[in-house]
Amino acid sequence: MAKITLSGINKWYAGVVHAVQDISFTIEDGEFFGLLGPSGSGKTTVLRMLAGLEKPSSGTIAFDGVAMETRSPQERNIAMVFEQNALYPHMTARQNISYPLRIRGLSKTEIDAKVGEVAAMLNIAHLIDRRASQMSGGQQQRVAIARALVRNPNLLCLDEPIAHLDTLLRARLRGELKRLQRALGTTSVIVTHDPIEAMTMTDRIAVMRDGVMQQIGTADEIYNRPVNAFVAQFFGLHSMNVFEVSEVTETPVLSGRCGGQAAMLPDVVRAHIGQDRRVSLGARPGGVSVHRQGQAPRGNDVAVIPSRVYVAEQLGDATLVTVQTGDVTLQAMTPPMEVFAIDEPVDISIRQDALYVFDGPTLTTAHFAQSARLPGAGRLAS
Ligand code: ADP
Ligand code: MG
Repeated sequence: MAKITLSGINKWYAGVVHAVQDISFTIEDGEFFGLLGPSGSGKTTVLRMLAGLEKPSSGTIAFDGVAMETRSPQERNIAMVFEQNALYPHMTARQNISYPLRIRGLSKTEIDAKVGEVAAMLNIAHLIDRRASQMSGGQQQRVAIARALVRNPNLLCLDEPIAHLDTLLRARLRGELKRLQRALGTTSVIVTHDPIEAMTMTDRIAVMRDGVMQQIGTADEIYNRPVNAFVAQFFGLHSMNVFEVSEVTETPVLSGRCGGQAAMLPDVVRAHIGQDRRVSLGARPGGVSVHRQGQAPRGNDVAVIPSRVYVAEQLGDATLVTVQTGDVTLQAMTPPMEVFAIDEPVDISIRQDALYVFDGPTLTTAHFAQSARLPGAGRLAS
């Protein structure tokens, strides 16, 4: 176990690809840390530098204050699990798991005890004498994780370890991995492109884009206070709606144009109107309500935008309604019993406590406009 510190890490490939750009962060001892971002954002490169498989072009990596840049993965005592496991197919689970212990020369008694313990934790005790080639993908991945953990690494590196498994199995392994990491307390880093995986499993998450660190925080912090529109749209089960209102006027009421339609704005937005009379707003689908035309609530604490239903998708316990206002597309999560037809004219409303305001053309700041009302009050009013 170790506390990991990265400072000013850059990685250039062949002098042309700046894959990782001046990244600094600390992973606490025992922490489960997520590296999240779309494909190509530099996550694997960061992990490989942590593991010692890749050398940073500049910057420092320390484990418990000890510089690691020149040390091999063995010297760092790293364990890695990749998306495609590298088990020996002809070996049994027991042989695969015990392999790192056998090459270290541990006694058979010690090996049996350790293998038994980790196999029980990963629910693979019943498979222990089966060949890897005769196991399902999920079982193989459990064995690969067991093999990684059996030698008490300083750092467990997981690169999309469950990304290729089917949905149900992935959901189950998420929970199992989280429990296991808690039980063992091994400092762990998981690379994933799936925000849900990062949110459900880890203590803190670093969101990356094109080699640049966007935000580091707990799932709750990043979800509720994303630092920019990219994070707001990337993070969470459903993307945040980010849209622009132009030609904002303050008389007779605060209003502007969204996708060519007249949009009413809540008073809290007033302070964020730019010189150009524009404002960039955001709202998660769960904060957007859909109403029959003309039936949206009005008031100085709500945004109302006329639109048209593009499609309604039933999700069982809710319906995801996609609406269009000119060239602006927005999504709303509605109660399942409300039915909207394709092309039906509707009004959408967003209460100020569900509204985000992005300042400036580069969308670098998000503000959460607090509501004076009690949370949840009037949520489903129509
Ligand atoms: P991620 O894991 O987030 O998908 P990677 O770290 O694999 O991203 O890659 C980040 C960037 O670096 C990408 O643009 C990728 O094409 C590039 N890259 C990765 N490995 C190499 C390499 N060995 N040589 C050249 N470019 C690379
Ligand atoms: Mg990768």
